[in-house]
Amino acid sequence: MAKYVYDFTEGNRNLKDLLGGKGANLAEMTNLGLPVPPGFTITTEACRYYLAEGKVPDGLGDEVDQHLEALERAMGRKLGQIDDPLLVSVRSGAKFSMPGMMETVLNIGLNDESVHGLAKQAGGNERFAWDSYRRLIQMFGKTVLDIDGEHFEGALDRLKGDRQDTDLDAGELQGLVETFKGIVREQAGREFPADPREQMRLAVKAVFDSWNAPRAILYRRQERIPADLGTAVNIVAMVFGNCGNDSGTGVAFTRDPGSGQQGIYGDYLQNAQGEDVVAGIRNTIPLQELERIDKRSYDELLEIMSTLENHYRDLCDIEFTIERGKLWMLQTRVGKRTAAAAFCIATQLVDQGLITMDEAVTRVTGDQLAKLMFPRFDAGADKRRIAKGMNASPGAAVGKAVFSSERAVELAGQGEDVILVRRETNPDDLSGMIAARGILTSRGGKTSHAAVVARGMGKTCVCGAEELEVSIEERRFAAPGGVTVSEGDVISIDGSTGEVFLGEVPVVDSPVVEYFEGKDVGDDDLVRAVDRIMRHADETRRLAVRANADTPDDAARARRFGAQGIGLCRTEHMFLGERRKLVEDLVLASGEEERQAALDALEPLQRADFEGIFRAMDGLPVTIRLIDPPLHEFLPDLTELSVRVALADAGAGEASDKDRVLLAAVKRLHEQNPMLGLRGVRLGLVIPGLFAMQVRAIAQAAKAVPGARPEIMIPLVAAVQELEAVREEAAGILAETGVDALIGTMIETPRAALAAGQVAEAAQFFSFGTNDLTQMAWGFSRDDVEAAFFSRYLELGIFGVSPFETLDRDGVGRLVRIAADEGRAARPDLKLGICGEHGGDPDSVHFCHEAGLDYVSCSPFRIPVARLEAGRAALSQNDSDTR
Ligand code: PEP
Ligand code: MG
Repeated sequence: MAKYVYDFTEGNRNLKDLLGGKGANLAEMTNLGLPVPPGFTITTEACRYYLAEGKVPDGLGDEVDQHLEALERAMGRKLGQIDDPLLVSVRSGAKFSMPGMMETVLNIGLNDESVHGLAKQAGGNERFAWDSYRRLIQMFGKTVLDIDGEHFEGALDRLKGDRQDTDLDAGELQGLVETFKGIVREQAGREFPADPREQMRLAVKAVFDSWNAPRAILYRRQERIPADLGTAVNIVAMVFGNCGNDSGTGVAFTRDPGSGQQGIYGDYLQNAQGEDVVAGIRNTIPLQELERIDKRSYDELLEIMSTLENHYRDLCDIEFTIERGKLWMLQTRVGKRTAAAAFCIATQLVDQGLITMDEAVTRVTGDQLAKLMFPRFDAGADKRRIAKGMNASPGAAVGKAVFSSERAVELAGQGEDVILVRRETNPDDLSGMIAARGILTSRGGKTSHAAVVARGMGKTCVCGAEELEVSIEERRFAAPGGVTVSEGDVISIDGSTGEVFLGEVPVVDSPVVEYFEGKDVGDDDLVRAVDRIMRHADETRRLAVRANADTPDDAARARRFGAQGIGLCRTEHMFLGERRKLVEDLVLASGEEERQAALDALEPLQRADFEGIFRAMDGLPVTIRLIDPPLHEFLPDLTELSVRVALADAGAGEASDKDRVLLAAVKRLHEQNPMLGLRGVRLGLVIPGLFAMQVRAIAQAAKAVPGARPEIMIPLVAAVQELEAVREEAAGILAETGVDALIGTMIETPRAALAAGQVAEAAQFFSFGTNDLTQMAWGFSRDDVEAAFFSRYLELGIFGVSPFETLDRDGVGRLVRIAADEGRAARPDLKLGICGEHGGDPDSVHFCHEAGLDYVSCSPFRIPVARLEAGRAALSQNDSDTR
């Protein structure tokens, strides 16, 4: 029979799948001998069963009873025991951290009788007992009974008036308990359950259910966390941070999650329970001040933090509580961090001898590197600073201030950049946080909800800007100096410094981009860390990285960024602008002579294009794709031309003879489905001389640039016969000019992939054009579907990410594997690459590594990401996961 419950002494950190992150790490800390309150974990398997079957698995109740009895024995008191109650917390904890997205209920076991026992236990502290009891009813009401939290918060606010919640006395809190019980009665139509076992049972179910709360679903989609994992539930003996001023609760990082610097980073709140810190309800004090308040606990905490870092060999974040001078660890995990911190910490840990360079490469991601390449605010620009808060999550964000999540979503949907401004955020703000460019709050510390979630998303965030008076109702905030910012006014926020500026501040390149560009960036810790990790990734990777570039400027940048060649030089743009007229001449040519004249005029221009690119690449291979798109794309618009000619016919305008001839040609070439029409190799076969002109231009250019290494690539091939026809002509021209160049094909039709064994007989290389291959494999028009209905598809979970963004392994990926395997079987030295957009996407780079390709090719700006991910792919067995 399945085992659904594990005592903390039975688990360890490798059991995250089963025990969730929190449970696995509580077990790990327990086994390290750290002060963890005793408890046990109900597995994710039990949750999955419950979600699938609508009931808890048979035997779960008995198992929970046994573990609870063991816990009661260990604590020497029973759950809810009237004279001396054991209280427990019921906490969610999934495999991947989902901060604040799921539920937790504290103080289970209290009722009208045991509340007195709790007061006695706490040395006659009535206030503490009633405060704990009101918290239970409040959390239970919200979480288990689905009562809108506003009811409770409103009643608390009315009672408090201008006071802090710590100013309420025992009598007032006892009154509040009665008020809260009334709210439960009124809103849920039932009494608050006095039976501790029933409280616990219902709380466990509520935690299971919270896996499918809308905000949790949204968060998982955003973070690409699979929807079917379920959450574990941790039942832990309560320890109390709200016993008085010798108690408190806090969160801490073993080093700065913003910059990676070593030091003491955390927030502490005296006389409070955990949720008060994360909710940002009261302002916390810096952790350093704990040294003054309770030196013994502070010293012990620092020692534990160092033990954890050395044990996990990584930055850890922790939650702790001090109960009357005794320190307890409530949670730890490998902590989220900003992109910059990830690079700095990885190399620091190498220098400390805790990890190897191989591990350092697996500790960072291409997405993080991409974030470091975003621009920042121009330090020299004129700017008007109106406030300074905490630098919670770095980046430079500019947008219109909005004061509610709904408005953020609405304006972002209209294409506006917005900054979400709140006093503090809560999990219901998730949609607004996703929609916004940045988040600004006036309250809460670096570990408040806004800060934690923004960092997780890589979104710019300034929090706790206390100088701002935010009025959500009036949709504006006031800043010192009589400044008022109303909804729609533009502000700029700097998540790296915590500064808030009025108006739009210009942005400049990041130092990491300047480093890749080869500029001198002086002595910068981050750049040094990036450099070390990139060098190691380059030494480790098997995949080569090339660029998609079709101008000498792009080619030069690509080389600076580390490209080892060009994997796709599209030639389409070379037929636009002033040259469009020559294409018109080509299409309108009435005979061989006219056509040849048009081609002859194009050839020297093409040759100059290629020479520029060969020079820029200086001896590295350059794959040039012969012209691909439908010819009519180079001709005037059908409607425009028709109107002009029709107006002229009606005597209301002018049209030349050429307009009329052109109109006939445009009509002749018009296609219902141009993406599936006369394009790619088909053009080369239908328009005599077109491909030959391009091949000649390539060959001449290669002769003119010493060391040039052209590779000629034929697009949109479906059958080997197509390739043979154009290949023969191209090979003839190369032989004539004495130029050596590979001739290969794109694999971008499903048929070419399925007939790859044959196609390989006529191709020296394959380059997977996964944009078209995705389009044709799914039957999705790549120009239309993303805007038209992908958001619905994502909502329905048909895929977690657009297949145009991340390669669809099961479908398109299978076509790639078939083509790679069968192509290589037919021609063992066949070179394989990818040049669709996927070539710069982290997950797709891993796929290309696994499928045995030789290189990926992507836009110049994504080359560093591809280099890093290719290195990580080569080391992927050791991936660490900090989600
Ligand atoms: C492709 O189809 O993947 C490709 C690289 O070609 P294009 O995007 O130019 O159609
Ligand atoms: Mg294509």
